[in-house]
Amino acid sequence: MANRAYNFNAGPAALPLEVLKQAQEQFVEYGNSGMSLMEMSHRGPIYEKVHYEADSLLRELLGIPSGYKVLFIQGGASTQFAMIPMNLLTPGATAAYVSTGSWATKAIQEAQMFGQVSIAASSEADKFMRIPSIGELNYPSDAAYLHLTSNETIEGTQWAEYPDTGSVPLVGDMSSDILCRPVDVSKFGLIYAGAQKNLGPSGVTIVIIREDLIRKPELTGVPTMLRYDTHAKADSLYNTPPTFAIYMVNEVLKWVKSQGGAEAMAALNADKAGLLYNLIDGSGGFYRGCAMPGSRSIMNVTFRLGSEELEKQFAKESEQQGFVGLKGHRSVGGLRASIYNAVPLESVRALTEFMQDFQQRNG
Ligand code: PMP
Repeated sequence: MANRAYNFNAGPAALPLEVLKQAQEQFVEYGNSGMSLMEMSHRGPIYEKVHYEADSLLRELLGIPSGYKVLFIQGGASTQFAMIPMNLLTPGATAAYVSTGSWATKAIQEAQMFGQVSIAASSEADKFMRIPSIGELNYPSDAAYLHLTSNETIEGTQWAEYPDTGSVPLVGDMSSDILCRPVDVSKFGLIYAGAQKNLGPSGVTIVIIREDLIRKPELTGVPTMLRYDTHAKADSLYNTPPTFAIYMVNEVLKWVKSQGGAEAMAALNADKAGLLYNLIDGSGGFYRGCAMPGSRSIMNVTFRLGSEELEKQFAKESEQQGFVGLKGHRSVGGLRASIYNAVPLESVRALTEFMQDFQQRNG
């Protein structure tokens, strides 16, 4: 495709061109079935193969140990903000949360509707521009779980390493950084991620849950569709799953595997982020990185310019030159380049060239 944009959207976001082409080829007729995948029963053998392949590829690429269930759920990561306390926060217990930014705040507000929440650490005093150090975390030893937001999509911060929480289950929102690097899943009781950044289109959310956290008979008052055991028991086929979104996730996972898996993604993402942060740091203050070094995200690079006027001009000119999605989130302003797995190195190179040129003209 000649006119593919330099896509830095925060989510939904860039997908690998190979995956889009493959989907296009299979769109009208899947295999020799006489119909598209979207027109098939989710209980038929053709769809089931796709469904279970996505499950097993995710297990392979993330190194998910046995004893965990992979679930495909609808409602976005936002629904997980509620499902997690509804399922894991037992009456009288306390859930601990690390307050790191916009998405952690949403998760906290939702949990507060269901029970006692304690803040294990907060970087609000630093305008959420850093991730608290592991040593700062302070939570009850009998907490129902400790929740962290692995990557704050809006502020552009990311946990460099995860805490060992012992008997307290660690819950991670990896919506904007799942599969951007290898992860030790065994540190977590539950990992969740909306698909629309690193895994595919919107419409499906991945939940990886340790089996002992799937509460069964003793869980009362939780609607059927919002219980993990409902989905776990039925291998995410309790009701009609978002079949096309899961098909796309499967294709993206195949692509990640063909590229060399999570390690290869980590190397590519480090290169892309390195190009941008080096340019920002070497710009003599013309560009200023928002996140503090040590907390910088390799998925969402946030930066500012000397004035809001200049930022507006940057956004406008970059758009005119084919760069999409560089305006920062409306809640924080500034600029943001989202460089998820499927954003090619060439797009980032083109962006650094534009940024150098923009500085020359306006510095
Ligand atoms: N958590 C994080 C870190 C996110 O980036 C987002 C979406 N941008 C969400 C949660 C909410 O996801 P959804 O829109 O799928 O509900």
